[in-house]
Amino acid sequence: MTASNTIIPNIAAIQARIAAAYQISHADGPAPTLMAVSKTRSAADIRLAVSAGIHDIGENYLQEALGKQDALRDLAICWHFIGPIQSNKTRTIAEHFSWVHSVDRAKVINRLNDQRPSPLGPLNICLQVNINDEASKAGASLGDIPALAELALSQPHLRLRGLMAIPANTTNTDEQRRNFAAVRELLITLRQRFPNAQLDTLSMGMSADMESAIAEGASILRIGSDIFGPRTATTPD
Ligand SMILES: *Cc1c(COP(=O)(O)O)cnc(C)c1O
Repeated sequence: MTASNTIIPNIAAIQARIAAAYQISHADGPAPTLMAVSKTRSAADIRLAVSAGIHDIGENYLQEALGKQDALRDLAICWHFIGPIQSNKTRTIAEHFSWVHSVDRAKVINRLNDQRPSPLGPLNICLQVNINDEASKAGASLGDIPALAELALSQPHLRLRGLMAIPANTTNTDEQRRNFAAVRELLITLRQRFPNAQLDTLSMGMSADMESAIAEGASILRIGSDIFGPRTATTPD
């Protein structure tokens, strides 16, 4: 089979994995949303994913995403920006996405707010937390999150929804669970501190650690390779 022929059965298989993991998770929130992460994938592949019931699409590279958005403007897709943010790209991001998961500094918060076109309504954002304090990774440190949350919540054109994390890569499920639990606990402290905010989102869990993330209450799973197959190239802009 070609990669494209596997996209639809892959999505059915992942939905079954999500349902099974959610059932044993004792989570009290709604079942997590499956976002398809389509960096390096074609618009045709995204179209197949949408035909299999996917509504949320995550992209990492702005130029690449804009081309696919244009090719897919006939579909009702909710577009999520999940890649590193250069501050000179914030205007285009604010104009072309419903969600941004990778917000990690004050400058980006201020710019996204100032540049969000009012007719589109508030931009949903998550603060990316560098939960293992890895020098190689984007994301704010744990200690910086409360002040960034306070700043984001003061912006009229942003709606802070929660936290996003890409924990250290490990196949040890206990470690995966510990990392995701730390993100969940951080969101709980934010909810206590900002009781009027709509902090309902934990954006966590990728192909290799999805079950651990669900067990710790993930609300948006960001799945790439288990839907589209292994990535062979990257196309940064
Ligand atoms: C690529 C990517 C994913 C998807 O990763 P897979 O391991 O392919 O499922 C999720 N989140 C972010 C931020 C990514 O860059």
